[in-house]
Amino acid sequence: MVRFKKTMKSSSDYAQLLDEQDNLKEFRSLFYIPKKNGKECTYFCGHSLGLQPKKTKDFVNQELNDWKEMGVLGHFDAKNPWYYYHEYLNKQIANLVGALDKEVVSMNSLTANLHLLLTSFYRPDKNKYKIIIDTPCFPSDRYALNSHMKLHNLDPKNSLIELKGNNETGILKDEQIINTIEENASQVKLILISPVNYYTGQYYDIEKISKVAKKNNCIIGLDLAHTIGNVKIFLHDWDIDFAVWCSYKYLNGGPGAPGGAFIHSNHLKTKTLNRLEGWWGHDKNTRFDLLDNFISSDTAESWQLSNPPILSMAALWSSLNIFENIGIDRITTKSIKMTSYLYTLLSKIDNLTIITPSRTEQRGAQISIKIHDFDKKIYETLLENGYICDYRKPDVLRIAPAPLYNTFKEVYNFSTFLNSLINE
Ligand SMILES: *Cc1c(COP(=O)(O)O)cnc(C)c1O
Repeated sequence: MVRFKKTMKSSSDYAQLLDEQDNLKEFRSLFYIPKKNGKECTYFCGHSLGLQPKKTKDFVNQELNDWKEMGVLGHFDAKNPWYYYHEYLNKQIANLVGALDKEVVSMNSLTANLHLLLTSFYRPDKNKYKIIIDTPCFPSDRYALNSHMKLHNLDPKNSLIELKGNNETGILKDEQIINTIEENASQVKLILISPVNYYTGQYYDIEKISKVAKKNNCIIGLDLAHTIGNVKIFLHDWDIDFAVWCSYKYLNGGPGAPGGAFIHSNHLKTKTLNRLEGWWGHDKNTRFDLLDNFISSDTAESWQLSNPPILSMAALWSSLNIFENIGIDRITTKSIKMTSYLYTLLSKIDNLTIITPSRTEQRGAQISIKIHDFDKKIYETLLENGYICDYRKPDVLRIAPAPLYNTFKEVYNFSTFLNSLINE
């Protein structure tokens, strides 16, 4: 087996030492770790689907049981009355994204929320109608944007401005983003950025980008799919207009978990802001009076359409409690340490290029690598041996050690094994 050049940092003893010093190590036992042939897998796919907290089934069972025992009366009489259920998650979510409680709501899926907020915030006129996006752009976001342009009789070919990064890595320079906004400002209506890009793992300087957007009278919206629960972000203070997210990635909310939306308090009382409306967005004091006129709740809840899926909300709530108990500061501190360790070990391996930026403030928990002369067998052998990461055509692996449940030893073993697969 190919070994790393012997240095302090590339020995398995060092990995063990880092694990011993890890003050979040006890939290791994809060999660079910998938197994292969009776052995725990090394799970580096928390950026696609986070693992199941052991408490989740208790939270779901509580609601199943109240439904069983009470039927419709559970709306108000359940242990956690369903009528208010989404509110139980608000403070925890608001803390994770740096928002006021009234600025966030857990609902729908990411793409559905993106459509709802584009309906409110993308109101192009004949001067300002263009949209700037970062690339690679997740296909669903692109479809959503294109469809809104078409709804406004605009041709995406002339209306969508794509920020294209470095030829080999796709990494974008902050100046490039800022220059593109400034050069096109007179025509740009909206900027949609994924603060942590799903493909490259790059975390942009959102505070700076937002300032430039505001100076140029552009709306700024964020897709937090790979951001929430992964890096610190301050939506309110950074003056972000709106944001959307899903909760099954770093948040461990379970497959298809309810996503969420943020609307800055600046917009919550704006009568000129239109939206698609439903009964669950109605002011909750009179929601069940079934009035003919819609009365907005003056919070992000106004964007809710329907009563929420309680069983999935329960699963998400179980996971948010873990984030609240540990705190995002401690989580990101470990994350930076563990990802830096992965970065260091990967950079010692020949015949691969690391795409993700080397500076810790420019990334989250994910490192993306391009393997030279890639053979799909490499990925398949990783899986066969219980190393679960993500493969993107044609030659990219995305590896995401999650601070809540991964260990330094796993990072070490993965890197050593990958090295042997590529270079032996
Ligand atoms: C995962 C992801 C989505 C997922 O969209 P859903 O509507 O939740 O299925 C959207 N955008 C990005 C950037 C993602 O990474």
